[in-house]
Amino acid sequence: MTFDTLAAWAKIKGLALLGTSDFTHPEWWHRIKRELEPAGKGFFRLKKPKPPSGGLSREFAAASDDVHFLLSTELSFIYAQKEKTRKIHLILLAPDLQTAEKINLRLGKIGNLRSDGRPILGLDAASFARMIADINPRCLIVPAHIWTPWFSLFGSRSGFDAVEDCFEDMTPFIIALETGLSADPRMIRRVSALDRFALISNSDAHSPSKLGREANAFDADFSYRGLIEAIRSRNPAKFLYTVEFYPEEGKYYADGHRNCGIVLAPKESRRKKNLCPACGKTLTLGVRHRIEELADRPERPVTEGRIPSLHLIPLDEIIGEACGRSPACRSVRGYYFRLIREFGNEHRILTEIPGGELRRAAPERIALGVERARRGQVRVFPGYDGKYGQLRLFDGPSGLPVK
Ligand SMILES: [Zn+2]
Ligand SMILES: [Zn+2]
Repeated sequence: MTFDTLAAWAKIKGLALLGTSDFTHPEWWHRIKRELEPAGKGFFRLKKPKPPSGGLSREFAAASDDVHFLLSTELSFIYAQKEKTRKIHLILLAPDLQTAEKINLRLGKIGNLRSDGRPILGLDAASFARMIADINPRCLIVPAHIWTPWFSLFGSRSGFDAVEDCFEDMTPFIIALETGLSADPRMIRRVSALDRFALISNSDAHSPSKLGREANAFDADFSYRGLIEAIRSRNPAKFLYTVEFYPEEGKYYADGHRNCGIVLAPKESRRKKNLCPACGKTLTLGVRHRIEELADRPERPVTEGRIPSLHLIPLDEIIGEACGRSPACRSVRGYYFRLIREFGNEHRILTEIPGGELRRAAPERIALGVERARRGQVRVFPGYDGKYGQLRLFDGPSGLPVK
């Protein structure tokens, strides 16, 4: 995941702006300064574009201005508050290099920024927010994947029941929350206490081909300030929509026991006192269950004036199912890149290109899969207890020729 490869994949996916990630890590920070240059208005671009690595064809190399970056990082906080151990992840955006440098200096005195993955800080979220607002109030702190059982603001294992309990007097500094892969805005809007927050969606990708599986679409001034204002305003003319993964595909959506093959909706597990009907032990409760606990509204379709969300299925998964093969398989990649060459980027293919045009460039079954996904004709088998959920667009196995 070097910058060249990230930029190339962003272009393939149809993304104009990416977080740098990990600006708090000393080596990555060094690379940010060496490989990126300010593009003005708080964004950055590739200094010297190079062909992407990781087996990606040169033809997909991004030019300097194709993709922009903004300074971002994710941090892990583990601390005790009100006699409970709290474990949460926070995303941090910074408007310029000097601010990021100051943040790195301060945090370097508190925790080990060299550790692999996210740095772990023994600081409480409110003190962290105070420190960041003091360094530069134009920074943005966003609680990450807020419903996952572990490491999140509302996590059932070690989180809080309210944003105010976590950020105390710094709560007004928090303007947005990240929904995470196993939740979507419709689920979160059942909690009225969260109405004042913007809900953003990020890919949380650990490999470049997963970029954009969740994303945010804006029609705003292309600048750090424009971005933050569009989020803050929650104005659907500026913050157009979020791209969502089907939350049921997440590993902790429903309740259940993986080893017992038991999967239950929250209502059913409550009737069974959260005990497994097969082995009698406590069930692993999913995101859905946790939202039911905090919700004060019934489930409704998206209300007017809210930022709409678009549920998409990644193109390699659609092709994989159409071909009856794994999304990582060679023939699937063949069809994938043929479509990208033809139509420019994945987002456009999934949302805009008419079925007739898709049929010109790809087998009928792939075009049909894209159309069914657009219409929401999807059968969903929810994930539970660490097992990924599954989506189905077709019934039986396919008869597509492999090329
Ligand atoms: Zn995280
Ligand atoms: Zn069991």
